[in-house]
Amino acid sequence: MNEETNIYEEEKLRLQNIANITNLDAGFLEYLQYPKRILAVSVPVIMDSGELRIFDGFRVQYNINRGPAKGGIRFHSSVSLDKLKALAMVMTWKCAVTNIPFGGAKGGVICDPKSLSRKELEKLTRRYTFELIPIIGPEKDIPAPDIGTNPEVMAWIMDTYSMDQGYSVPGVVTGKPVVLGGTLGREGATARGCIYITISLLETLNLIKGEMDFAVQGFGNVGFNAARYVSESGFRLVALSDSKGGIYNPKGLNVLKVKEHKDKTGSVINFKDANTITNDELFEVKCDVFIPAAIESQITARRALKMKCKVISEAANIPTTIGADNILRDRGLVVIPDILTNAGGVVVSYFEWVQDAQAYFWTEDDVNQRLRKIMKRSFEDVYMKSKEMKCNLRTAAYAIAVTRVIEATKTRGIFP
Ligand code: NAD
Repeated sequence: MNEETNIYEEEKLRLQNIANITNLDAGFLEYLQYPKRILAVSVPVIMDSGELRIFDGFRVQYNINRGPAKGGIRFHSSVSLDKLKALAMVMTWKCAVTNIPFGGAKGGVICDPKSLSRKELEKLTRRYTFELIPIIGPEKDIPAPDIGTNPEVMAWIMDTYSMDQGYSVPGVVTGKPVVLGGTLGREGATARGCIYITISLLETLNLIKGEMDFAVQGFGNVGFNAARYVSESGFRLVALSDSKGGIYNPKGLNVLKVKEHKDKTGSVINFKDANTITNDELFEVKCDVFIPAAIESQITARRALKMKCKVISEAANIPTTIGADNILRDRGLVVIPDILTNAGGVVVSYFEWVQDAQAYFWTEDDVNQRLRKIMKRSFEDVYMKSKEMKCNLRTAAYAIAVTRVIEATKTRGIFP
């Protein structure tokens, strides 16, 4: 369900709101509303049937004033240029709020990867990468996984780019397999960071009392790992979902058993130790913390009115519409914004890029400790800012991020 929100227009509104609060001048507000560079490519693929099909691919580099562009690659039928612009803008804020030296980007191909064979997916990935070669590279723009892509896809991107250069360039992409220069701890990093920030918030607001119930929307990389860490942290996971529907058991779900069921049947629904519910019903489940970890615009005004949690921790990118945000604020629910709570993935991607550059690799413990340090610092920055500005966490996080991007922009000056 998606109540047709244009997330790029919404992100521009969020930016305008911050500009008003931080007295950003009109010229810079205008400047930040446009991506720096967009590449649109057509991706021809000879399918297994012998048919030639053309797919639309894009890469948006939103802002590179604080460092090389950084952001995921999405393979999904709902990919659109406006969505990628919004997601690339959000990547810019995410890197700024965590103070890692990257700008923001996002790319994608309009396709349904589940309907492609492995061979077709590899051909599509390699041709898309080849078309992006003029603008990507370890010092220019470093892609990573997102919806519909995984470490294997990153390996094909790394190999295609390296073939063109004539030597191995592991630093062109992050989220790749460890054997190719990937980092330990990347696969679970987004979820790990999310749970770390969520617990910090619960502790800070003194909300941990007795048993705590969590619900998670989405059961892919981020959703599955978030659900796993929720259970491992001693909380009760009462509801889960994927694109086909959800499951609910107020006594708790065994995540690993649900994963086994999903691997066998293709979905979490009809898991024997739970009731199957609709995706709409998932939003009405009584719980303490709700973690959206699927796609954007899932928390709509209609759903926001019915949510029965105390805290929403946005593991997905842009899961909440502006209308819903206002309702949640008025209802007193605390929202931990995506640019803070799901930044663990890009932080560990940064670690991967650093390790590739120095060709010296860290232990998983080292990666996790460094991640914790950056997430802790970022949470404290945002929380303190929200106290200082007397505003919610999203406004505080955006204020920090936009200020950092503007500071870098003004210090560099506008060329020429
Ligand atoms: P993924 O493709 O591995 O998983 C997506 C999951 O969402 C799948 O389980 C799918 O079935 C489910 N889903 C799709 N549409 C749904 C719907 N309408 N209702 C319920 N479930 C639905 O993707 P991912 O990498 O886990 O990414 C999930 C979200 O997290 C995205 O918003 C992504 O941008 C964001 N994110 C991912 C990373 C990362 O490191 N992978 C980092 C930061 C943010």
